[in-house]
Formats: sequence, C-alpha cells, structure tokens
Amino acid sequence: MATQEQDFLALVKQINLLDMNLTLIDWDSHTNLPQDGASFRGELTGYISGQELALRTGKAMGQFLDYFAAHPAELDEKGQQVLRLVKKDYDLNHDIPAEDYAAYQQVVSDAQQVWEQARVAQDFSLLQPYLEKIVAFKKQFIPYWKRGQATDYDVLLDQFEPGMTVAQLDPIMDTLKAGIQKIQRTLATRGTQPRTDFMSRAVPEDVQERLVRATVSRLGYDFKKGNLSRSTHPFTVALNRGDARITNRYGIHDFQMALLGGIHEAGHGLYMQNFNPDYDYTPLADAPSMGLHESQSLFNEIFIGRNAAFWQGEYGRFQQATGDIFTDIDEATFYQGFMATKPTMIRTEADPLTYPLHIIVRYELEKALFNGDTTVAELPALWRQKYQEYLGITPANDTEGILQDIHWAGGDLGYFPTYLLGQIYAAQFYHTMSQTLPVNDILASGDYSKITQWRKDNIHWFGASLTPQALIKQVSGEALNPQYWLDWMTATFEKAYQVTK
Ligand code: ZN
Repeated sequence: MATQEQDFLALVKQINLLDMNLTLIDWDSHTNLPQDGASFRGELTGYISGQELALRTGKAMGQFLDYFAAHPAELDEKGQQVLRLVKKDYDLNHDIPAEDYAAYQQVVSDAQQVWEQARVAQDFSLLQPYLEKIVAFKKQFIPYWKRGQATDYDVLLDQFEPGMTVAQLDPIMDTLKAGIQKIQRTLATRGTQPRTDFMSRAVPEDVQERLVRATVSRLGYDFKKGNLSRSTHPFTVALNRGDARITNRYGIHDFQMALLGGIHEAGHGLYMQNFNPDYDYTPLADAPSMGLHESQSLFNEIFIGRNAAFWQGEYGRFQQATGDIFTDIDEATFYQGFMATKPTMIRTEADPLTYPLHIIVRYELEKALFNGDTTVAELPALWRQKYQEYLGITPANDTEGILQDIHWAGGDLGYFPTYLLGQIYAAQFYHTMSQTLPVNDILASGDYSKITQWRKDNIHWFGASLTPQALIKQVSGEALNPQYWLDWMTATFEKAYQVTK
C-alpha cells in the first residue's frame, strides 16, 4: 500500500505535468503560433490553467496539508521541502474569495490591453483607473496573504523574493545610490570617455546568432537539453532539466544587445538544466526566488560577459566570426567601448552601473503606494522627479517614462527589486568563487568548464530546496551584502575608463 507521502508526491507530480504542458504552450505562443490561432490558444491555456489551479488548491491538497500538519514525521527531508513550497502556494491562492480573484484577473487582463493603447497615446491617464483597481485588489488581498510581515509591501516582496523585506532593502538601496554616484563622479572627473562609434557597425543577424550559439555553448548551456529560437522579447522557459529553452532577438546595428541578451538567457537555461534529479516532478526543480533565478542570468551577462578577462580570450574569436568588420579595433578599444556607461530613459537598455537606479525609482514608488504615502494619480509626477534626481534625465512623455514596463499592468507589484537583487547575489557568488578558483586565468583561457562546474555544484544543484537566505549563506558564508557589487563595479569601470589615480 502506498504511503501518504507517496500519494502526496503523486498529486504534486500531476500538477507538475500540467505545468510542463503550460510551459510548452507558452513557449510555442511566443515563437511559432500562427496569428489566427491566438483565440483558440487562449481557450486552451485557460482550460489547462484551470485544471492545474484546481489541483493546487483543491480538497485533496487541503487534506494532505492537514494530515502532514498532524503527522510531520511521516515525511522525509525532500517531502518536507516540497510541503513547504506547496503549502505556501496553497495559502496564497486558497483564502481569497473566488469571485474576487476572478474579478482581479479580469482587471489585469484588461489593463494589459489598455497599457498597449496608453503607450500609443503616450497617456498614463488611460491606464490610471485600471492600475487603481489593481492596487485596490492587492490591498484587499494582503490581509489574507499576511504571515507576520511588518509592512503591507513586505507581503508583496515575499511573493517574488521569499523572506525579503523593506527593512533589508532600504539600506541596500541607500548604499547603492551613494556608491553609484561616487563611481560616476570618478569616471567623469578622472576617466577617459571611451570611443563607441564602432558599437553600431552592421553585423548580419545570422552571424550574431552563430556567435551567440558558440558563446553560450562554451559557457555551459547544453543544446541537448535546450534550444535557441527567436522572439520579440528574449526569454527562457524550462519544462524540466532535460528541456530548458532560450530565445533571443537580433538587431543588425546592435550586436551587443544580441550577444549579452543571449548570454543572459543562457544563464537562466544553465540553471534549469542542472537541478538534482531527485527534484524532478516537484516545485524543488526551480530557483528559490526570482532574484536567484536572475542571479544566474546576470552572472553570465555581467560578471562574465562584461569581464575584461573574458574578452581577453573571446575577442579573437569575435573578430574571426565577424569577418573584417572589427579588424581595425584592438581588444582594449573594443572592451572600453563595450563598457561605456550613460543614463538611459529605458530600464531594459540600461548598462549595469546605472541599472540599479531604474529599480530604485520603481521600488520607492511601489513602497509609497502600499504604505499610503502616495496615490496612483501622483505616480507620473513622482516618476519624472525621481528620474531627474537619480539619473539626471526627464522623460519627454509617459511612454518613455512610467508606461515603459508592463509589470504594474500585469499585477506584478513587488517584482522589480528582484532584478537588482539578482545583480547583488551574482556579485557575491562571483566574489566567493574567486576565493577558490583562479577566475581571471580561467576566463582568459576560453575554457569555462571549471566555472560552470562551480556554479552547478554550489548553486544549481540545490534548486528550491533552500530558502534564498539559506542558499546565499551556505555558498558565501554571510548574508546578502551589496558591497561586493560596488567593489566589482568600481574596479571594472575604473579600468574601462582608464581612471588615473
Ligand atoms: Zn532574466
């Protein structure tokens, strides 16, 4: 006779199989779906999502949670880790009145359509009533979700970065704000502005794609367990560790976007290809948080892809792959141009030094919304004010300002900080790795397998079995510390800008 644990894991596996189905549909929808298939596809997705949600929040799941609350000793270690994640998901979805949740989903669906229209009209006021409803729903749901968090905004942060709080984030944001300004002053007063004209030279898209394929393979992404397609916005989806797919986009005059974008997605893919096989068919086969997921893509993109030692080995290959396009540009000139930093209006186009400032603006606005310090109507003015204060630029209209991201219209409030946390985790991992591996020599050699192995052994293998706090502590021996990020950025940008002492 099967034990309660086996029955429980069998239910969890059913949910996981439906998830794989949804993931495959999602990938197909963004890469291959014919135009006229969209409405049928919406119905299919809705049907399977409904079945999946019914299993996650249904009576059978509730009975297992009650049973194991009374008989915790009947679960082994893995069973307990699965239970922790399943229970969190159940609690998040179970207590909200079903009709309120359906109404919320309808608003979010409408808001994303309206967001597109508002962008065309360059007018935030079109989106405003929808965003007001989304915020009102979130405020209504927060008491159901609250599990001892100090502030309402902490409840939202916890949904994307479990355990993260305003009390932890505020000092991190302040440290970064001051540190970034200091680096910018140094570069402006003692640095040499790099030459960047060659960065927009035409590189055929198929050449860029071949380059991305070869580079991400060397960085450990396994094409037997994934593939590379084209889509409007790059993304990664994983059905399981044997099937973690990435996509990319190409612009003939922006080889850097394609190269770093591909390297970024391959970092997500590498993570998903290397979980402990014991975690198959469970929510343990995932990153512990959005920030940690992003830490592996940003490790690739920034701490390898923007590393001078990496380009020492790669630039010869890059020159060869691109024919005679860059024969007149030497490695130092190339790297300096590659690292040019300048405030941009659009978050997704920002370089790694100014990127955190975009997140800090969004974090401060979200926090103010949920702590009752501001209203949705006041957001555009606050947005312009903070962009001027932190980045020294003011958007000409709402489309290049507050309407640039879909997150808020999609109901993802509390999500933005995970992008920045990803950079900070990545810097701390990189620092720890440098204590035991000769990282610069490895990067310059072009054989990155030792780095890939270190990441698999120390991070990927554990999946979501540890909390974010436990994982960073286990790997680095300390809690999240933004100083490693600042140290790396200071050294890297001072080198690229040839700062004189
Ligand atoms: Zn990413």
